[in-house]
Amino acid sequence: MPDTKSWAGVPLHPANTAGPAPAFPWPATFSSAMFLSFDIDAESAWTGKDPAHAERLITMSYGGFEARVGTPKLLELLEQLDLKATFFITGWAADAHPAMCEAVLRAGHEVGHHGYHHLMPDPGDPHIEAEIEMGFEALKRRLGVVPKGYRAPVGEFTEQQRVSLKNHGIIYTSSFRDDVRPYRHRLADGTPGTIELPVTSSYDDWMHGLSARFSPRSIFPKEHVLSMWKDDLDETRDWGAMVTTVLHPQVSGRPMRLRLLREFLRYAKSCTDLWITTGEQIADNFLAHEAAPDGTAQSE
Ligand SMILES: [Zn+2]
Repeated sequence: MPDTKSWAGVPLHPANTAGPAPAFPWPATFSSAMFLSFDIDAESAWTGKDPAHAERLITMSYGGFEARVGTPKLLELLEQLDLKATFFITGWAADAHPAMCEAVLRAGHEVGHHGYHHLMPDPGDPHIEAEIEMGFEALKRRLGVVPKGYRAPVGEFTEQQRVSLKNHGIIYTSSFRDDVRPYRHRLADGTPGTIELPVTSSYDDWMHGLSARFSPRSIFPKEHVLSMWKDDLDETRDWGAMVTTVLHPQVSGRPMRLRLLREFLRYAKSCTDLWITTGEQIADNFLAHEAAPDGTAQSE
């Protein structure tokens, strides 16, 4: 097969041209932050890869675990620990599992946008706009929610998305892997985009905790992951920066993983310098400082 790839069109500048993340202070007595967030994909984690999975009932059952067990268990844990989080929910999950999603809302957590069918956005993909529109529509119709935050399904992003999300009024996005503090996107035309709350890769529980026929991986035990999560957290606290979790009820809602998460969150809560909160709160903190005349509003 002839090699048709060409690198002649690769731009000679950074892919992300956003300026450096400003060192805005965290509120009150906090000197670091944790954006505690979950992604509710349910079965759309699987049909998003291949619609034919809809008829592969065991593959689907990994996602079905979220409504039956995983999400209720996580909600219970968050209530016990008195923590509020952000749940990025696919439109499909809101349509197929309204009771599960209503329970998230009822418990006082923030609901964010996570696409509709959980399709990986690829440049030029004709589904990108429909994914965004349908996601908004389902969250509004099922939950009465107009989301402020967005996390890209399968963690991929395109310029078309950045422009569309800004035009739809999204305040913050949380998908990029390139910083440890919030920053504001700069679109290709030079105008400001959404606030980015960058993701901490090691806090994606799927990487260490779920293996299935169509997503084969190694599963790591509690001690291994806890050690990694604590080290990332402690070093980030030393930096005065932020970590962002990417947890999934079909992973972290399973018994051994829940035990791990409980232990980790208890440890995080024992760090009195750490602000554990939602994306909306972190974005509000950013906005307040950005709007201040000297760019650093008083924190209290
Ligand atoms: Zn997802």
